Amino acid sequence: MSPETLVQVPPQTSAFPLQSTTADFDRYVMSTYARYPIMLERGEGSRVWDADGREYLDFVAGIATCTLGHAHPVMVDAVTQQIQKLHHISNLYYTRQQGNLAEWLVQHSCADRVFFCNSGAEANEGAIKLARKYAHTVLGISTPIVITAHASFHGRTLATITATGQPKYQKNFDPLMPGFYYVPYNDIVALEEAIALLDAGGRQVAAIMLEALQGEGGVRPGEQAYFQRIREICDETGILLIADEVQVGMGRTGHYWGYENLGIEPDIFTSAKGLGGGIPIGALLCKSFCDIFQPGDHASTFGGNPFACGVALAVCQTLERENLLTAVQERGEQLRTGLRALGEKYPNLVSEVRGWGLINGLVLNPEIELTASALVKAASDQGLLLVPAGPKVVRFVPPLIVTADEISQALQALERAVVTLV
Ligand SMILES: *Cc1c(COP(=O)(O)O)cnc(C)c1O
Repeated sequence: MSPETLVQVPPQTSAFPLQSTTADFDRYVMSTYARYPIMLERGEGSRVWDADGREYLDFVAGIATCTLGHAHPVMVDAVTQQIQKLHHISNLYYTRQQGNLAEWLVQHSCADRVFFCNSGAEANEGAIKLARKYAHTVLGISTPIVITAHASFHGRTLATITATGQPKYQKNFDPLMPGFYYVPYNDIVALEEAIALLDAGGRQVAAIMLEALQGEGGVRPGEQAYFQRIREICDETGILLIADEVQVGMGRTGHYWGYENLGIEPDIFTSAKGLGGGIPIGALLCKSFCDIFQPGDHASTFGGNPFACGVALAVCQTLERENLLTAVQERGEQLRTGLRALGEKYPNLVSEVRGWGLINGLVLNPEIELTASALVKAASDQGLLLVPAGPKVVRFVPPLIVTADEISQALQALERAVVTLV
């Protein structure tokens, strides 16, 4: 071999460093999202800045994900520490970070054990698998059914779009997964009828999977009486109650978990979005019967790696140390009061303000033409980022560290947006 062939100098490209524009982005990235024409570059606390230096109040927070906002010193520190020490191994080995995070979650919830994965959909897949194994091995059901609710949202994988009770997410992706059945949310009679119908020819219902508050489905809180009756039914029959806590969990409602607002404990629940404060992590949490999962039953390459778990633990401990649950309750009250005042000032605009803690929905009057996306657009022109939850609901899910001042500023920006529209 001649020396020339040994040394391969890479060709210099003039395109380095790359500077993708929104047009380049659309050229190279699949068009699965309708994006706002804003290129975000930097964030701090509850604020983000675009590439032109424009400042926005971020009341989207990665859709209820950036628990501690942007560039929080605790996260910066946890990320830096962990990446320098050990970021990924494999679940073939133990790490303190995974064990510590699982212990924290068990100590701060009704669960006995945790399985870590990477996303909400993946956590829900795990919950469905666990419920099916429980049905086969404990309840003796050969074709288990999971009941879910209309207007629910459980993710974008094939099983979780099937679980999602909204046909728009399923269209053109059939055949869907067998084993799901849908009922209207907060309607106990419909649920009891469904169980009777499904079990009439032999037992089939393995689990009831619900959000404590429907996030994507329009920020619709669950009703206590509904969930408490479901808990009784599950206790009487052995049906599992699965709570999808992906959006409402991790302190967002002013409690660690959404189900605490309902006075019940689920048998299984799932977490993702806010758990890592924006670092990808998901979790499947369960009472001790989850020991029916045996080595080989379920796995995830990235799930529970020391990087994600180290950062998520820092997020969890910050929630606790800084007493953020109380702050979430107070800021939420302030926000809802302000939104209601706005509704009174512009009487035709708002039909309802609803939510818990820092997940709130402004429901627009169905009689008027104004849509949630039009108001969201107008708000972003006023420097406030919001996200719709359905055609008529504007969702407010700021970081849990949001200040009283920032809530006031957001309410002012929203009113400026409203003025441009009415
Ligand atoms: C976002 C969401 C999911 C899906 O989570 P991914 O991390 O996007 O897979 C599932 N359930 C609920 C309630 C959600 O809000």
